[in-house]
Amino acid sequence: MRLLLGIPSKWFCLFQKNWLFYRAIFPDTIRSHTESPFPCGWIRRAAMRHVDCSNALQLQLVNTCVQEEKRMMHTAPSVCPLDCADTCSFTVTVEDEHIVKVRGSRVNPLTRGAICAKVSHYPEFVHGSDRLLTPLKRTGPKGAGQFARITWEEALDLIYTRFTGIQQEYGAEAIVPLNYAGPHGFLAGGSMDLRFFHRLGASNLVRRPLCGGVKSEAFVSTYGAVPLMRPEHVAEAQLILVWGNNVTVSQMHLMSYINAARRRGAKLVVIDPRRVPVARKADLHLAIQPGTDVILAWALAAELERIGGLDHAFIAPHVLGAEAFLAEARRLTLAEAAALCGVEAVQIQQLAAWYKSISPAVICPGNGPERNQNGGSGFRAVFALPALAGKFGVVGGGLLQGASAAFPKTPGRLQGEAWRSPGTRSLNIVTIGRDLLDPDLRPPIKGLFIYNHNPVIVHVDQNTMKRGLAREDLFTVVCDIVLTDSVRYADVVLPACSHFEYADLYPSYGHHFLQRAEAVIPPVGEALPNTEIFRRLARRFGFTEPALQASDADLMDEALTLDDARLQGIRPSQLPLDQALPMTFQGGDAVLFRTTFPATPSGKIELYSTALEKTYGLPLPRYKPVASPYPLTLLTPSSDRRITSTFGNLAYSDEVWIEMHPQDAQTRDLCEGMLVRVWNDLGEVHLRLRLTEDVRPGVVCSPKGAWLRTSDNGQTVSALAPSHYADLCQGACFNDTRVEVAAMAEKAL
Ligand code: SF4
Repeated sequence: MRLLLGIPSKWFCLFQKNWLFYRAIFPDTIRSHTESPFPCGWIRRAAMRHVDCSNALQLQLVNTCVQEEKRMMHTAPSVCPLDCADTCSFTVTVEDEHIVKVRGSRVNPLTRGAICAKVSHYPEFVHGSDRLLTPLKRTGPKGAGQFARITWEEALDLIYTRFTGIQQEYGAEAIVPLNYAGPHGFLAGGSMDLRFFHRLGASNLVRRPLCGGVKSEAFVSTYGAVPLMRPEHVAEAQLILVWGNNVTVSQMHLMSYINAARRRGAKLVVIDPRRVPVARKADLHLAIQPGTDVILAWALAAELERIGGLDHAFIAPHVLGAEAFLAEARRLTLAEAAALCGVEAVQIQQLAAWYKSISPAVICPGNGPERNQNGGSGFRAVFALPALAGKFGVVGGGLLQGASAAFPKTPGRLQGEAWRSPGTRSLNIVTIGRDLLDPDLRPPIKGLFIYNHNPVIVHVDQNTMKRGLAREDLFTVVCDIVLTDSVRYADVVLPACSHFEYADLYPSYGHHFLQRAEAVIPPVGEALPNTEIFRRLARRFGFTEPALQASDADLMDEALTLDDARLQGIRPSQLPLDQALPMTFQGGDAVLFRTTFPATPSGKIELYSTALEKTYGLPLPRYKPVASPYPLTLLTPSSDRRITSTFGNLAYSDEVWIEMHPQDAQTRDLCEGMLVRVWNDLGEVHLRLRLTEDVRPGVVCSPKGAWLRTSDNGQTVSALAPSHYADLCQGACFNDTRVEVAAMAEKAL
């Protein structure tokens, strides 16, 4: 340090005035300063020991170093915004306004510092070569991804001109927002954007059917919108049923509570067509045929009745329609049910015996069972089991469901619902690709605004979606963080901020903690947060309502009921960053029939639903087999590579494969590692074959979310998924995909 302080005063002056000069002199030490103690931190520490406090020059030098060190390397709190039940808290290391590392933090008591490996790729995602840095305008054919840079002003002008032209010719409903669940914060997920589209009079997009809506409707019809228990309470259970839930991938923090319960002697049962990692630990694994959950739940209910496992003392006051439900459940014999589910009758008997005798018993369902035409019925029947067996009222017992209802949300206010005219057309997100090509749709879709979403990869019937997006007469705006396969179809591209670049407020659909995060880096390039993009659009469209210029802090404060006692008088926009606020009920944790109660019209658990009878003609669950000439069921679950399609642009997620049982491979003369074609009437995908007994015969499995870059023919597994609806919510039926598989050599590429 003395050496440094001894250099000519001319250099000191330059050093004080211009840090870049210092970097020019010591480029290597600056570049490597995260690895080495030498540069700024070293200088500061040495200077503090040797500095002459009467020497203003030296003090200024130290101050410069301190400021620069702060700028160059620090950590900041954040929250994971991804479509995942856990909503982990983060500690983010920032260097020179770049995200360099993402670690878990202990702010969220549920996630306790652990995060999944996927988010370690955030630095590359945020700062990599695919990052969209400026607005762009299409210069080549749709889908080719050829663009030229334009300014924000030009982009907003173009959107205004084209959308108002469409409005004048076809009406505002010819414009459709196509957004889904990219970020899950209140602000980025759906606030100013929806205010804008409601004010514009655009078509209303029904988003829930794509994922989670079927399960949610089954749940709300049975229990009402009410949280039943905290995930942490699973640790108190003595019997855990993990039903269609690949916990280690989709709800990884639940695993530690399952493990804690196991250490206390709890039994673990896994119901899943695949031998997922949690199934390897299970005392019992029922590898059921996909789409037969309703049959299995009926069989368990009937078996419980036969062995005296129904809790009549609970049913009489608290359950509506138990007898009608059981009458349906009894229609199949145990042997018939076991045959349809593809499991042994003794397995069903064993599970029923445990379920009768062991408490607390908890069912932890995932989303997989909803993705078929019996999905709503399957969940209704599964949700009936703890009611019939009287498993509620104890910590660790019942059903792990309803976290979304734990928060005092006010979506109508946040999203400007009041601007939506009652007769506004609604379109189902699942079939928007079909709608884009429908010659009879009135008005036709002429303008599309895609954001928080990558529909080319995520939607069913990918080829139809691609044909729809390729329409030359369709004006498409795509707003995203990186250049996705859907961005390639845009006329105008808007660069969006990652969640590290704006503040947001985070509820969860998997736990009961509310969290807030602030920006940890400035916007990258010319990217803007969603809220600011739609504020600017509103101004360009001449909308003068103050609600369309509300600040992000105002939006946070409009996302929740401010006088809810659990907010403790703190405005949501002021929630401390180092705390996760617990949502409590009657001063304690959610425990159904202790602190929370069914919120159905009858106030009881409704196994017979007049609401669903009225909407769908389904007062009770039903079963309908899938009819298809293709013999294999294709499952396309989540993986440890991506969150749906997020991170699909990164090389680490490029490997694609299909899993098949060796028996199915043998009958088709297929071998491990072979390149196979997987096809049905909707499309064809080429994948590398993996043989494993982790999938049951008759089922093949390939992870969802891979981008077109992984494909040699422009199709991924979504191309094979049908577009018919589930029995509730008009939900997507990815797991009703039926295919055949053969070696690639059977057909010329
Ligand atoms: S994706 Fe899920 S598990 Fe991974 S960090 Fe985000 S919230 Fe946590």
